[in-house]
Amino acid sequence: MSQNQTLPIVIIGTGLSGYTLARELRKLDTETPLVLVTADDGRSYSKPMLSNGFAKGKAADELAQADADTQAEALNARIMTHTRIEAIDPEAGRITTGAGTLDYGRLILAWGANPVRIPLEGDGMDALYQVNDLTDYGHFREGVAGARRVVILGGGLIGCEFANDLINGGFEVEVVAPDPRVLPALLPEAASEAVRAGLEEAGVRFHLQHSARAVHRTSEGVSVTLDDGRVIEADLGVAAVGLQPRTELAAAAGIECGRGIRVNQYLETSAPGVYALGDCAEVCGHVLPYVMPLMAAARALAKTLAGERTPVHYGSMPVTVKTPACPVAVCPPPADAAGEWHVEGEGRSLRALFRSENGDLLGFAVTGDCAGEKQSLSREVPAILPA
Ligand SMILES: Cc1cc2nc3c(=O)[nH]c(=O)nc-3n(C[C@H](O)[C@H](O)[C@H](O)COP(=O)(O)OP(=O)(O)OC[C@H]3O[C@@H](n4cnc5c(N)ncnc54)[C@H](O)[C@@H]3O)c2cc1C
Repeated sequence: MSQNQTLPIVIIGTGLSGYTLARELRKLDTETPLVLVTADDGRSYSKPMLSNGFAKGKAADELAQADADTQAEALNARIMTHTRIEAIDPEAGRITTGAGTLDYGRLILAWGANPVRIPLEGDGMDALYQVNDLTDYGHFREGVAGARRVVILGGGLIGCEFANDLINGGFEVEVVAPDPRVLPALLPEAASEAVRAGLEEAGVRFHLQHSARAVHRTSEGVSVTLDDGRVIEADLGVAAVGLQPRTELAAAAGIECGRGIRVNQYLETSAPGVYALGDCAEVCGHVLPYVMPLMAAARALAKTLAGERTPVHYGSMPVTVKTPACPVAVCPPPADAAGEWHVEGEGRSLRALFRSENGDLLGFAVTGDCAGEKQSLSREVPAILPA
């Protein structure tokens, strides 16, 4: 399909990726017709606030920064809310939505990731909260009102952040995770231990190296049966076992997908005129479901859409884990990097540096009082996608 400049630029998704891209585009091009299509209500919000909004006493409405109408006016855009994309036809340059078809000049997929659902026995799967957007957060806030005991499935970033937020909110919190340590995908062992110790001291109870086998509804909430037969009774359950980039509709349209929707450094998918960014995208082999990468992608793509084809550049991308019981910042080394972790410090304040055989710093994790070294260490770590 040849790219038709008179047809609108259509962005699917009004999360941080979709709205940041629209905002960056409007700084460069105020005229090209712009349509945003979203399955949700189009309110803008900062998703990282979902896992530390409870202790701050924030209701869903308070986390919303602007509604869809306000955004549409500010962006000089049409925003189609509660409208789900059902199919893409890249040949025709057309998408099919629940509300009919729409022709696009350029199409941007910014439709995020689905929470992973683990297959468990029992009738309680639907009773587990999965908090991946503002609507989920609103339901979760309603569910948690009056609850006392919360069980969280998952000891990764989101599970640990919710555990810290809820323990600060005065709940009894138990975390179940199959791995021997928390944040196993992000941290070296010593740093994981520091975070676990911090959360335990705050009152979180961990059941590590145990999987949930079944979840049942009970008169009080849910019961989770572990693989060793123990049963955890709780008023409320949260599943935080990972996210899976949304690829199904892209793959069905013949667009190349791997772990995410595959794009090159220009955010171009395998279909001409179709781009992807954010949690749904695999950028030059990297799936980085965090805010910093999507901001960099949005700035580069906005320039491309405005006429100056621009590659995205990822510097080092440190992630701050919002666990005040033991603050953490981490910049994981590349998955295939050769080298070793060197850990310094004591107690909860650790500086773990991943160095190559030549001594080059390829990644780091800093905890406790060392977490403030994030910026200075980030400057030493090589860029993920150099310019
Ligand atoms: C609880 C939590 C805490 C986090 N904390 C941090 C943090 O501290 N730091 C950090 O860097 N990152 C954090 N992240 C990750 C970060 O928030 C995400 O990387 C980012 O918000 C993803 O934005 P997105 O726009 O790509 O996707 P999303 O925000 O998921 O937006 C997807 C959009 O697509 C729409 N959509 C989906 N399917 C369709 C369809 N078929 N048709 C139409 N529209 C559709 C949705 O309605 C939505 O508007 C956190 C994530 C979570 C869940």
